[in-house]
Amino acid sequence: MVDPDCLFCKIVKGEVPAEIVREGERTVAFRDINPQAPTHVLVIPREHHADAAAAAATDTGLLDAVVREAHEVAKAEDVADIGYRIVFNTGAGAGQTVFHLHAHVLGGRGLSWPPG
Ligand code: C5P
Repeated sequence: MVDPDCLFCKIVKGEVPAEIVREGERTVAFRDINPQAPTHVLVIPREHHADAAAAAATDTGLLDAVVREAHEVAKAEDVADIGYRIVFNTGAGAGQTVFHLHAHVLGGRGLSWPPG
């Protein structure tokens, strides 16, 4: 399932450039173009799902693959031991701007709580 108008589907297909850090069978991980921390990587599924809720409803196991990959990214970026954050902005009201499921992997600096 691919949305031809979706920016992140275009990154998966190589039609839009991105600094890819890891590729897996179900996921692609690339650096966010507007990083909010020393490590800021997005993990996306190759298949198009608008958000985490849509993926959970239609593809059992996909979120598991995305979260596992997020942890692999954190290990590869050397932030796993000190602590990092996985964020799924879900819906415009939560700040989601790209409607293709993505996990933000943030680390490498102190992360305050609650988030803004
Ligand atoms: O959670 P949200 O939808 O706001 O996150 C989208 C993210 O995608 C932003 O952090 C933005 O910087 C990133 N982005 C990107 N490459 C693009 C377009 C957006 O990394 N070409």
